[in-house]
Amino acid sequence: MQMQSFCFLERNEAIANRDKTLFDIIIIGGGITGAGIALDATLNGQSVLLLEKNDFSSGTTGKSTKLIHGGLRYLKQLEFKMVHDVGRERKVVYDNARHIVRPEKMLLPIYKKGSLGFFSSSIALWFYDILGGIKKSERRKMFNSAETMLTEPTLLKDGLEGSGVYYEYRTDDARLCIEVIKTAARIGAKCFNYMEVKDFVYGPEEKVIGVNAIDKTSNQVYEFYGKTVINAAGPWVDGLRQKNKSLSDKKLMLTKGVHLVFPFDKIPIAQSVYFDTLDNRMIFAIPRQSTTYVGTTDTKHISEKEQPKVTKEDVDYLIKNIKNTLNVSLVSSDILSSWAGLRPLIHEEGKSPSEVSRKDEIFVSNSGLLSIAGGKLTGYRLMAEEILDVVLQKNGTRKKERKSTKQTKLVGGNFIDEENLQSFVLTQIKVGETIGIEPAQIKNWVYRYGTETSKIIENVKKQSSQVAESTDRSIIAELHFVLKNECIYTLSDFLIRRTGMLYFESEKITNELCEKLNDEIGRTLKKTTEQNQQSIEAFKKEWRDSKSFE
Ligand code: FAD
Repeated sequence: MQMQSFCFLERNEAIANRDKTLFDIIIIGGGITGAGIALDATLNGQSVLLLEKNDFSSGTTGKSTKLIHGGLRYLKQLEFKMVHDVGRERKVVYDNARHIVRPEKMLLPIYKKGSLGFFSSSIALWFYDILGGIKKSERRKMFNSAETMLTEPTLLKDGLEGSGVYYEYRTDDARLCIEVIKTAARIGAKCFNYMEVKDFVYGPEEKVIGVNAIDKTSNQVYEFYGKTVINAAGPWVDGLRQKNKSLSDKKLMLTKGVHLVFPFDKIPIAQSVYFDTLDNRMIFAIPRQSTTYVGTTDTKHISEKEQPKVTKEDVDYLIKNIKNTLNVSLVSSDILSSWAGLRPLIHEEGKSPSEVSRKDEIFVSNSGLLSIAGGKLTGYRLMAEEILDVVLQKNGTRKKERKSTKQTKLVGGNFIDEENLQSFVLTQIKVGETIGIEPAQIKNWVYRYGTETSKIIENVKKQSSQVAESTDRSIIAELHFVLKNECIYTLSDFLIRRTGMLYFESEKITNELCEKLNDEIGRTLKKTTEQNQQSIEAFKKEWRDSKSFE
């Protein structure tokens, strides 16, 4: 059964009506890695089941720096191949989802006390652009200190030698993931969230032939069968390898990365800035909507993986390092929200968290389980190609018969070019004006949902007579779009992962709004009072946690 819309009620139906299908591929994990594999595999004619234990992108994927970048700092570690591959991939991701992948000017200030001088920074940036295949007109520009201060007046002047300005892309990681999943689901992949894989099912010769999973919304247990099972569980990859008794010497090393969100006027930067820390690392400050967010830390993480915490130490570290480069006055009470994510890196003996390679790796167990970890959000499509090649080769598909996702536009991203996107924005603004929706709101939607924005506008039209307040009309219309098309189950799914409101529009979130949205979700999904209560309490806890640090 192919899903027409992508709604939680349909998910329940699809699970209830499931036949004894033998899927070609079962994927464990609905982060960007699992999502990318689901899309590539489905495009290549494989029947695919993807199981995610919480919401899609609720693991590392929703907690990144939200950049589609080549990884300038990996040049220092001589990771030329990775910078080349991921650097070139930036444009591919942009071309296929330009509504959520936006060009971002990045300024690299050069200080006397810094790790690289003016000349070496200039060479490094030039090489970075060459590796990334950047066309001549868009390559880095170098500025002396006076020019730099004009470009970025927020910088501390003392010791400033100049800067380099180059281009990366900014994204919304959780939205990128959901758009990939929606694209896969539209061409036939079955993608179920809140379905946790508990163990593997084994057949003759102890080969993996399926998984046992529990639906966390109903506590029902299911068995699913697949010719190939892929473990794309991010920080949880080793836990599943352990269950499969295939954990080798090559293990994951988890490192925690924290981001803090401040009001824009506290860090009023003219563009993104990438700068040195006092301990010889580098961090980003990135303006977004009415905020600026800063990150990241990189510390070894060995405690619980479900909700890594932002500690007071993380906050002090970031504030101290911001003040070391930017002329701003900041205290921890300025923080609007925060998030912490875990990098699932491949352990390398004797290396510190920042030195460990970000390369991905595939593990093949004797029981046939394939596991994949490491890598970057930016390189998700390449990682998917890599592991699907292994599966297709096993099935006897020849490489030249294989289809590529290189030109597969994601849902919402079907724009020929930038001009086409901008003219879509203008058309939607005009339609919005006729029903009293602010241009800023329309733009917000286009950069979240792309071509799908027109469906939200239709929702507004449908309910305009019932709801008086324009803000309420907009958010309820958006919620109903997401309920129908993006398989949300809880308030956090909506306010954190589909809209990013908790991070970048936290000023709009009130108790009253939460109640209203939560009731609407409950009514639409026919939830019990207890389920409704759990949903709102869980969101309020995340809301509190995003602003409290121990
Ligand atoms: P995850 O997103 O963690 O997905 C794994 C999923 O598996 C989870 O959703 C989890 O719930 C699910 N799961 C686990 N166990 C089970 C089970 N038993 N059953 C069902 N489901 C299960 N990369 C970039 O390109 N750009 C950046 O700017 C960037 N910044 C980063 C900043 C930080 C702080 C961090 C931590 C990483 C950053 N990265 C960045 C790297 C990038 O975010 C990760 O490489 C990527 O998100 C990993 O995705 P994943 O799908 O492998 O893991």
